[in-house]
Amino acid sequence: MKKKIAIIGAGPSGLAQLRAFASAAPKAEIPEIVCFEKQRNWGGLWNYTWRTGLDEFGEPVHGSMYRYLWSNGPKEGLEFADYTFEEHFGKQIASYPPRAVLFDYIEGRVKKAGVRPWIRFSSVVRYVTWSPETRRFTVLVQDLPNDRSYSEEFDHVIVASGHFSTPNVPEFPGFDTFNGRILHAHDFRDAREFVGQDILIVGTSYSAEDIGSQCWKYGCKSVTVSHRTQAMGFKWPANWKEVPLLTKVEGNVATFTDGSTATVNAIILCTGYKHHFPFMPDDLRLRTANRLATADLYKGVAYVHNPALFYLGMQDQWYTFNMFDAQAWWVRDVILGRIKLPASKNDLIADVEKRVAAEDAGEDSYDAIRYQGNYIKELIAETDYPSFDVDGADEAFFQWKKHKIKDIMAFRDNSYRSVMTGTMAPKHHTPWKDALDDTMQSYLRN
Ligand SMILES: Cc1cc2nc3c(=O)[nH]c(=O)nc-3n(C[C@H](O)[C@H](O)[C@H](O)COP(=O)(O)OP(=O)(O)OC[C@H]3O[C@@H](n4cnc5c(N)ncnc54)[C@H](O)[C@@H]3O)c2cc1C
Repeated sequence: MKKKIAIIGAGPSGLAQLRAFASAAPKAEIPEIVCFEKQRNWGGLWNYTWRTGLDEFGEPVHGSMYRYLWSNGPKEGLEFADYTFEEHFGKQIASYPPRAVLFDYIEGRVKKAGVRPWIRFSSVVRYVTWSPETRRFTVLVQDLPNDRSYSEEFDHVIVASGHFSTPNVPEFPGFDTFNGRILHAHDFRDAREFVGQDILIVGTSYSAEDIGSQCWKYGCKSVTVSHRTQAMGFKWPANWKEVPLLTKVEGNVATFTDGSTATVNAIILCTGYKHHFPFMPDDLRLRTANRLATADLYKGVAYVHNPALFYLGMQDQWYTFNMFDAQAWWVRDVILGRIKLPASKNDLIADVEKRVAAEDAGEDSYDAIRYQGNYIKELIAETDYPSFDVDGADEAFFQWKKHKIKDIMAFRDNSYRSVMTGTMAPKHHTPWKDALDDTMQSYLRN
C-alpha cells in the first residue's frame, strides 16, 4: 500500500515539498499526498491580504506582509535551482523584486509542476495525534467554507506552517492610555496610513528596518526606533533617529531609558514572532527559539522525538526558497526510503547538539550566512536537487550587507549575478526610494 503524507501549509516551504514529490522518479513511487492550506490560495506570506485580525471564517489572519514590500535580500540568494528567474520571466530581472513579482515566480514553478490538485484550500489543521500502536498520525481538519470537520490518517506529517505569523507583543507602561494607534508589524499593511506622522518603532529586526523605511519612503514626518540592546547603526536619513529602550508612554510622549523623549502619533511594535503550533499536542510540538540551529530537529527537519514527523523552514532565515527546497528534497528521500535516519534517538540528538555548537561558534552575521549556506550544501549533496554555487550565493549576501552599510535607502538599487544562470541582473529603471508604483507591470518594464 502507498504511504500517505500530510503537508500542513502551502507557503514556499509546503510548495517546495509538493514540488519535490512531483519531481520524484519513477512516478510510481510518489506517495499519496494531501496538503492542507487554511487560506484560499497558495503562497503563504507572499499571498497578500489586506485583512488583519481575523479572516472571513474567524481564523487568525496568517499574512504579515504589506503593500509595497520589496524583497529584503537579493533574489540571487533565494533563486530556485530548478526554476530560474530567467525561465519564469523570459529574461533576467532586477535584484530586489516587489512582493507581487516574487509571488508570481513562486506560483510559476508549482503551476508548471501541476501540484495544485494535491492541495485542499480553506482547510485548517486543528489537531494532530500519533498512535504508537498503528504508527500513524491522525489529522483533524476543518473544511472552513463547508463548516465540516473530519479526520484522516497519515504515515508522515510535514509541518510547513511558517513562523512569522503569530506576533510577539510586549506591553509598556502607559500603552492603555496612549493617544494614537499601537500595532504589531503583523498588522501593518500600508505605509500611507502614516503620512505626515511621527512614528515610533520598537525593535531592530528586519521588520523594524523595513517598515521604518517604508514609512519614510511614503512620507511620514519622522521615524524614531527604540532598541533593547543595540542600535541598527545604519546611516539613516535626517528625520530618523535611534534611541534606547522605551520605558513608558504618557499621552503622546514616549520616554526612553536614557531619559530622552519623543512625541509620537503611532507606535509600531516590530518585536518578532513566535513559533506557534496550536494544532500540535505536547509530544509533537516543536519548541525552539528563532535561530539557525533549531532545537529538536535532526538535519534541521526531522523531529527527534518522533522522526516520522518533519518540520520545514523553521530556521531563522538568511536563505529562504532554495533552503526550503534543500530540506524538502531531503525529507522526500527519507520518506521514499532513499535516505536512512539513524536508528538511535541519541544519534538524532547528537546531530542537533553539533549544529547548535557550530552556530554558537560563529562570530558575526557573515559566519551565520556561511553556516546556513553550508547547511544547504550538506542537504543537497544527499539528494538529486540540482547542485548550485552556494558559495556564490553567500557572496551575494555579503555584498548585500555591504551595500546596506553604504546606503540603507539605496541598497535595493544594486545588482548581482545569478549563481544559477551566470547572468548579471539589470539595474532597475527607478531608484527604490522613488519607485512608488511597485506593481509587477511597472517593475518588469524596461
Ligand atoms: C514581513 C515579512 C517579509 C519577508 N520578506 C522576505 C523577503 O523579502 N525575502 C525572503 O526570502 N523571505 C522573506 N520573508 C520570510 C518568509 O518567512 C519566507 O519567504 C517564506 O514565506 C516562508 O515560507 P513558509 O512556507 O515556511 O511559511 P509561510 O509563508 O508563513 O506559509 C505557511 C502557510 O501555512 C499555512 N498554515 C498555517 N497554519 C495552518 C494550519 N493550521 N492549517 C493549514 N494551513 C496552515 C498558512 O496559511 C500559510 O499559507 C519575509 C517574512 C515576513 C514576515
